[in-house]
Amino acid sequence: MLKANTLFSFDLKSFFKKILTIKGIYQQLPIFHEKAEQAVNCLSCASCCKNYSPRFKTTDIKRISKFLKLKESVFINQYLNIDLEGDYVLQKLPCAFLGTDNYCQIYDVRPSDCKRFPYTNEDVFLKRSQISQKNAEFCPIVQHVIQQISENYSLKI
Ligand code: SF4
Ligand code: SF4
Repeated sequence: MLKANTLFSFDLKSFFKKILTIKGIYQQLPIFHEKAEQAVNCLSCASCCKNYSPRFKTTDIKRISKFLKLKESVFINQYLNIDLEGDYVLQKLPCAFLGTDNYCQIYDVRPSDCKRFPYTNEDVFLKRSQISQKNAEFCPIVQHVIQQISENYSLKI
């Protein structure tokens, strides 16, 4: 079993290229993902919520504002900025909704980016490999999935 944040500080580009040649790899991803989720405790990590912002799409903003009983404009002014890509992102990190116990205080209505992160059960995990490589630097779930692929298909990382 890999230790978090110790192994993927180098370029994974060639490894991801090799993964894409594996027949049936997309069907296997949810299985690897589930095993990784069972092995890793997000509540003892929260690296994503502490160091990176999700995008807040229009539907996210509507849902979260309603939950917080705030006008959407107030919610935006209070918590969000627009980044260089034109997306709404958090004004500050760690995320304002991360509790001291690492629980998300808006869990049921959290942004879709948060629900999907780290995308290891989705095609985009391999299709947007540059992002996945970046996520591998800090996310133990991504590291665990990569390790499983490496072991199952005898691929050297
Ligand atoms: S998704 Fe990854 S980075 Fe985020 S809390 Fe879970 S293990 Fe940590
Ligand atoms: S909304 Fe919740 S899950 Fe998303 S970054 Fe903030 S604390 Fe983490």
